Amino acid sequence: MFLQAFLCICFLSCWPLATLGGYNRVSGSPIQGKTCEREMYSPVVDMETIVSLCKRRGFIFQSSEIYGGLGSTWDYGPLGVELKRNVKEAWWQAVVRERDDMVGLDAAILMHPDVWEASGHVTNFTDPLVDCKNCKQRFRADHLLEGYFQKEHSLSLDDVKVKVAAENPGAAAAGHLEMLQSAFKILNGRSFEWGKFKCPECEGPLTEPRNFNLMFKTFMGPVEDAAAIVWMRPETAQGIFVNFRNVQQTTRKKLPFGIAQVGKAFRNEITPGNFTFRTREFEQMEIEYFVIPGTDEEWHKKWIAERRAWYERFGIKGENLRLREHDPDELAHYAKGCVDVEYKFPIGWSELEGIANRTDYDLTQHATHSGRNMCYFDDATSEEIMPYVIEPSAGADRSTLAFLVDAYEEEQLEKDKRVVLHFHRQLAPIKAAVLPLARNKPEIVEVARKLAADMRLSFSAMYDDTGSIGKLYRRQDEVGTLWCVTVDHQSLEDNMVTVRDRDTMRQERVPIAGVKQMLKDRLEA
Ligand code: ATP
Repeated sequence: MFLQAFLCICFLSCWPLATLGGYNRVSGSPIQGKTCEREMYSPVVDMETIVSLCKRRGFIFQSSEIYGGLGSTWDYGPLGVELKRNVKEAWWQAVVRERDDMVGLDAAILMHPDVWEASGHVTNFTDPLVDCKNCKQRFRADHLLEGYFQKEHSLSLDDVKVKVAAENPGAAAAGHLEMLQSAFKILNGRSFEWGKFKCPECEGPLTEPRNFNLMFKTFMGPVEDAAAIVWMRPETAQGIFVNFRNVQQTTRKKLPFGIAQVGKAFRNEITPGNFTFRTREFEQMEIEYFVIPGTDEEWHKKWIAERRAWYERFGIKGENLRLREHDPDELAHYAKGCVDVEYKFPIGWSELEGIANRTDYDLTQHATHSGRNMCYFDDATSEEIMPYVIEPSAGADRSTLAFLVDAYEEEQLEKDKRVVLHFHRQLAPIKAAVLPLARNKPEIVEVARKLAADMRLSFSAMYDDTGSIGKLYRRQDEVGTLWCVTVDHQSLEDNMVTVRDRDTMRQERVPIAGVKQMLKDRLEA
């Protein structure tokens, strides 16, 4: 959970405030909402530019746009769906196919309601909200307080935590909201009271905070009563836990081993926003890695290193990644530790993935609630073991956004500027575009179409004759196509084509007969 220092620096109270900024309320705009700024910097590209490129070039569209859009839901267009598939495939390849100790799973989204009782989500998966009694808007209580400290005391959340830890260690270890309320007392010399604060929208009175459950509720079957309630899963992880014994017994895997899953999750986020960074429907890429208790800390470290390396392997610059260890007050009560892989998004350093040591909490909870044995039987010692679990939990949409942002470059050329997406070759939505130099010359068009059709059998390739060659190059650069292959008049005589490299813009002449194999070799290199 993040500090709102960047956008959320406003809080109307009985203390005078000069200006209002972007406090968080329940409705979110694409570019606003919960951010995670810990350090101000000038991003290479701002989020508006990315949103605009995504829409213009068919990566991502606002969902239900013709009806005015639906808050914080997004549709992946023709290029976006390829990019996101490639991201998920790159993850699956690294964490399942390349490893002997991992297997996959695809569990149902709808699960028995007792799963969410056992996991603690029905009781604890909540955010504290205050309502304005006058205009009825809702606000995240903790975000309002964080904004207040930023505005009134120029203190970031980290500063606030340090202060509370020094002056009231007991409060520092309490819940997040309690810690913030204690900070208020330390800084102002009097107790915190919600009744004295006013709505940032209309200055009306605010209610006391109430916990709001983030799970979407629906009904199974035709009757909409309490017995028919099911939840849209807020994480894919529980599908893995409840299948632990099924998977272990059918695969005969020995500890340590892991189960990976990619799938949709749903959270009724209070402050969605920042494009696809925080949405109410999103995809997760999760691993539950089961280990012998006592080896958990060593495996936690290994997975942290492994997962950070994955982002770099697929092209994210090292300087744009960092690891952040959770403070004790951020940890779930059962977790022994958690480290986030953070990316330097245009909105600031923000979580891409959390890697938690969840101990034996989940399996124990499911054993207790279901009455079933969830242990692992160790043949060698004839012992029943309740494994510990390391959980690297990544977001497919957030990762896709990070790969997009990191790939973006505005490059100054001699005469003009080009926008280029330097995607890793495995992630690029289109690997090659075949371009005829003259679209009104049937012999050239025929060769180009045939070449594109042949390439498509091996990798994603397209034929494009909708502009001049210069324009086509720019368009392909802007969507990250690795190579442009041009068929010209000369090609009809010497059976050669020109291959232009996206990153270096260097051109080389290559025989038509060998060009597909050459690009295939480069893709696999
Ligand atoms: P945050 O602190 O950003 O709310 P979280 O710690 O609640 O995230 P987890 O429950 O650890 O997130 O989920 C694992 C991953 O799922 C996150 O690292 C993120 O990549 C992704 N994720 C979680 N919530 C959302 C969301 N609302 N929209 C998009 N991706 C999300």
